[in-house]
Amino acid sequence: MERVLILGGGAAGVMLASRLAGLLEDVEITLIERSARHAYQPGFVLIPFGIYSARGCTRRVEALLPPGVKLIRAGVERIEPENRCVFAGEEKLEYDFLAVATGCRPAFEEVEGAREALHSQVHEFYTLEGATGLRRALRRLRSGRLLISVAGMPVKCPGAPLSFAFLAEEFFRKHGRDVQVVLSTSEAEAFSKRQVADLLEELTEERGIEVVTDFPVEAVDASARLVSGPKGELGYDLLVLVPPHLGEAPVASSGLSDALGYARVDRHRLNAPACEKVYALGDAASLPTSKTASAAHIQARVVAQNLADELSGAERSASYNGDAVCFILTGFSEALVVGFDYSGVYRGRGPLPLLGPLHFNRVTRLNHAAKLLSRWFYWHLWLRGGYFPAGRSGI
Ligand SMILES: Cc1cc2nc3c(=O)[nH]c(=O)nc-3n(C[C@H](O)[C@H](O)[C@H](O)COP(=O)(O)OP(=O)(O)OC[C@H]3O[C@@H](n4cnc5c(N)ncnc54)[C@H](O)[C@@H]3O)c2cc1C
Repeated sequence: MERVLILGGGAAGVMLASRLAGLLEDVEITLIERSARHAYQPGFVLIPFGIYSARGCTRRVEALLPPGVKLIRAGVERIEPENRCVFAGEEKLEYDFLAVATGCRPAFEEVEGAREALHSQVHEFYTLEGATGLRRALRRLRSGRLLISVAGMPVKCPGAPLSFAFLAEEFFRKHGRDVQVVLSTSEAEAFSKRQVADLLEELTEERGIEVVTDFPVEAVDASARLVSGPKGELGYDLLVLVPPHLGEAPVASSGLSDALGYARVDRHRLNAPACEKVYALGDAASLPTSKTASAAHIQARVVAQNLADELSGAERSASYNGDAVCFILTGFSEALVVGFDYSGVYRGRGPLPLLGPLHFNRVTRLNHAAKLLSRWFYWHLWLRGGYFPAGRSGI
């Protein structure tokens, strides 16, 4: 029996396992995940504001996998694609096909002084622990400057820091607190897609959010409450740091990766050109699109189909078009949705052409409602291998 090994039980890994289990018979599917619980990360941005709880954003990994998929609870230490094997815990696991879905991690060590003060004076919402702690920190801030600093790229879900800035502005305004929200970014614009950058500039201006662009951050001085980089210094009373993200260590040392530890793949077929029978998807893959769960959803389908084709001796038939959709919550009741593929930015409505309910590049209440509804779809449909809607749909 052919053996398919999936590394990582996050959005991409679980979606792929479910999809494969539905497509293939007489194949042994094994998934390796180091954590007991799967996290719905798109919910993390709402935890600091008490909209979602940490509990509501996690599930036991085994409860998400279909029958027949074997789960190994262990950390992957080494990948040897040339020998078609992986080392995890005490085990050496051999495979016929490998799918790398280990995601990426916020690399706090890339910003000097950040790690030492993490979760005490340097806050973040990219981990469950960070998002939960940030709730307490926001409640304590009565006045002053809240700095959300995107220190460098790449980061997953580039819309998330913007969502956090808008939500924080509304949170402090509603609580009558004199807090200036400042968003700094290493990039030339607050959002890389030109078509929405202007709209976002208008929105941030309207809301009094100060945006500092072209400001990479190299160091944090937590005692002086300063971040610094080649363009100078910025002061704050509360810091929320978004460091650049890197691929996971076993991928970085596998010979499959680029300089940042992301697995190189063909941008359409999602197979690794450097090595036969290896695929990568989700945040772990080096792809010219946003690192989002919505992208992972479509990629899981493409990888499952191509893997099934290879197993049956056929040509790979599925192709990923770069589809990624990103919600930017502009407050507690409205949201902007941005979507794109390799050919450009989406316009109009999606996923259904006339009905939506998403309206791209617009701030609407329906976009916001769709964001809140997407958690239900995530747990009950998309992680289970469901494939509706097929693209142009956010998570
Ligand atoms: C704050 C925030 C907001 C976001 N908002 C959105 C949004 O609105 N919409 C959207 O679509 N996306 C959003 N995302 C992005 C989305 O969550 C990710 O793109 C998605 O989770 C990627 O799935 P993945 O499986 O590739 O990675 P992950 O979900 O991170 O899963 C990777 C898994 O691999 C495991 N792993 C890693 N290394 C090892 C190892 N060595 N051994 C064993 N297991 C390992 C990890 O434990 C993890 O479970 C957001 C993310 C964050 C953090």
